[in-house]
Amino acid sequence: MTSEKSGLSLLVVDDEPMLRTLLVRGLQSQGYAVSEAENGEQALAFSRDHNFHLVLMDVSMPVMDGFTACQPLHAIRPQLPIIMLTGHDDIESVNAAFNAGATDFISKPINLPLLNQRVRYALRATFQANELNRAYHDQNTACRLARLGFWRINMHTGDLQFSADAHELLGLDCLPEKRSDLADLLTTEQLHKLTMMLQAAVSSGSTLDTEVQLGKGKTIRHLRLMADNALDPLVISGAFQDITEQRSKDQQIAYLAEHDNLTGLAKRRLFISQLEQILSTCETEDVWVVVALDIARMQRINDALGSEAGDQLLIMVAQKLADTLPKEHLLARLEADCFIFASLLPVDIARTQNWLAAQLKPLEETWQLQRQMVSLNFKGGFALSEPGIRADALLQQAVRAKAQVTPGGRLSLMSDQGLVGQDGAGLLALEEDLRLAFDRNEFFLLYQPQESLADGCISSVEALARWQHPDRGLLGPDRFIPLLESMGLMTEFGDWVLRTASRQALAWASEGLHMVVAINLSATQFNDHDLVSRMLTLCAEENCSPTLLEVEITESMAMTNPTLALSHLQALKQEGFRIAIDDFGVGYSSMEYLLQFPHDVLKIDRTFVTGITDSKGSRAIIRAITSFCESTGIACLAEGVETERQRDYLDALGVDFIQGYLLARPLLPADLVNLLASRRSL
Ligand code: C2E
Ligand code: CA
Ligand code: CA
Repeated sequence: MTSEKSGLSLLVVDDEPMLRTLLVRGLQSQGYAVSEAENGEQALAFSRDHNFHLVLMDVSMPVMDGFTACQPLHAIRPQLPIIMLTGHDDIESVNAAFNAGATDFISKPINLPLLNQRVRYALRATFQANELNRAYHDQNTACRLARLGFWRINMHTGDLQFSADAHELLGLDCLPEKRSDLADLLTTEQLHKLTMMLQAAVSSGSTLDTEVQLGKGKTIRHLRLMADNALDPLVISGAFQDITEQRSKDQQIAYLAEHDNLTGLAKRRLFISQLEQILSTCETEDVWVVVALDIARMQRINDALGSEAGDQLLIMVAQKLADTLPKEHLLARLEADCFIFASLLPVDIARTQNWLAAQLKPLEETWQLQRQMVSLNFKGGFALSEPGIRADALLQQAVRAKAQVTPGGRLSLMSDQGLVGQDGAGLLALEEDLRLAFDRNEFFLLYQPQESLADGCISSVEALARWQHPDRGLLGPDRFIPLLESMGLMTEFGDWVLRTASRQALAWASEGLHMVVAINLSATQFNDHDLVSRMLTLCAEENCSPTLLEVEITESMAMTNPTLALSHLQALKQEGFRIAIDDFGVGYSSMEYLLQFPHDVLKIDRTFVTGITDSKGSRAIIRAITSFCESTGIACLAEGVETERQRDYLDALGVDFIQGYLLARPLLPADLVNLLASRRSL
């Protein structure tokens, strides 16, 4: 008997029909498809035709027992996890089970909740092991094809090491064993450049990515060296690649013309042409941010420590920027101490400044320069792309914005206009329309469902505001919330959101649908000392219990004024509101700090979900967040889930709830009810 409820199928092997039925039912209720077999031989036969994800196997059975079945089962499916059902406290059979290749055991009588946990754990562990194997295999293949080798240098002892086949790859009879031997292979100029690069990598702990020319005579080989010193600050290790072929003479000339000699970064011309290419081919909804960033008072450093130190500092800053910016970015050196970069904006436009500040945070550390600790101030200007804009115009806007910055603090940033993408006249008209929008009833809320990964239930939604503009069509919150803020209308708008969400929650409750509605609070609302009493009055007027509402605040809102945040949140919680921390991970806060806040849900920002399938970093962050949530009893929700693959990863990483286009876009109330009905009938 097999039921196909989820993508995961299990096989239960036991000769006792009663116990088998109990196990099958218990596992089916968790959403697995479960098949059953009476003994080891039947289990083997089934496994030949069907790719089970996990097998639960009794130890003693007639025809063929569990131990005997294990080995041939693994011969058919090497990665298959097998959980043995052993007698109570039977240490011998537990040992025998592991010797036979079982993954885990559970002793009889079976405790179903414990079994479910073991099954889930074993499935998760297998999933992770498979991912690891695949990654390992991919890596080896890639190295072979790209003709990559490895190298390591101990900056303390000067010892050099290379991968076994490195001398063949480099066309050398023997390889240097000491740093001092490098002088035989490199020209003075190349050696100087490499030395500077290595020192910068050691001082700033950042990665190294540079090109050196190997050889002094006619046969010069071009090597790309990449490395970091993640494990030991004095040992730098990494990869090299022979790119001689790619660097024919003509290319070399072009390369030198387009790259800065000192830092190896692109120069302005290359930056502009690459950005132009991106802007002309990117999706219309993509927004690119271009930033021009100056090191303030660079001249003073040159004067005090000499221009060699100044050069080294520029290399360090360039390396740090290359390290900290998101994977997809353009980075160049515009002139002396000005860097420019462009990146796809992964957050809402209104949050550009916060996002940039978080990205550039690593620059605020102190820098070690010739045994001196130096702290730097940066000032930057940024501009955002609009459809049809030219790359050089965008860069000009960013540079202009930078010129307007009055420095203060480690990092000062400025946008090229108060509000993005609006000309002055259009902005005025829009403001006028906004004042009227309240009376004309043009605002409405959409509701986006949140699903529990444990049981597939939907019992909460997030309310997201929209404006049906008479001429401009449907406008999202990015277009009007910053304006409402600047016009001082945010409190009024927040009240309207709370009333509307309360009415909707009540309407659903009266239809027998218990749905918690999450509302977003703005910083203005949150900084109002009367926030709690105001919200309670509104709830009372609408006759709505606070328990039907969840309040979403971002971590940066909580961190701006932690004392006020704490008192607001405690009072809200006391009154029965649920509390969610929104956009978690993009701000700066530490998890321990957050522990003080009484919240029920952490919402992992979409950025990490987007990165989950190909960034180990995103997965590690999500894993850290879910373990934190598990240990503190907070629910963990992932936002912006768009694909099945992302959902599977999130499930494996221990996320409790998901929200995103995979489930549904933000919906009108009637569409949400239809969605729930159609899921129920399924
Ligand atoms: P948010 O709170 O982070 O809301 C999630 C945003 O992600 C929503 O954008 C939602 O439509 C979008 N989203 C949901 N699932 C997916 C997905 O799978 N993929 C992608 N790419 N996007 C997804 P929306 O509705 O444009 O809202 C933007 C922001 O405006 C919200 O970000 C929130 O900060 C703010 N906002 C929305 N409604 C209100 C409100 O009533 N009051 C306040 N103060 N802010 C609001
Ligand atoms: Ca939100
Ligand atoms: Ca969010």
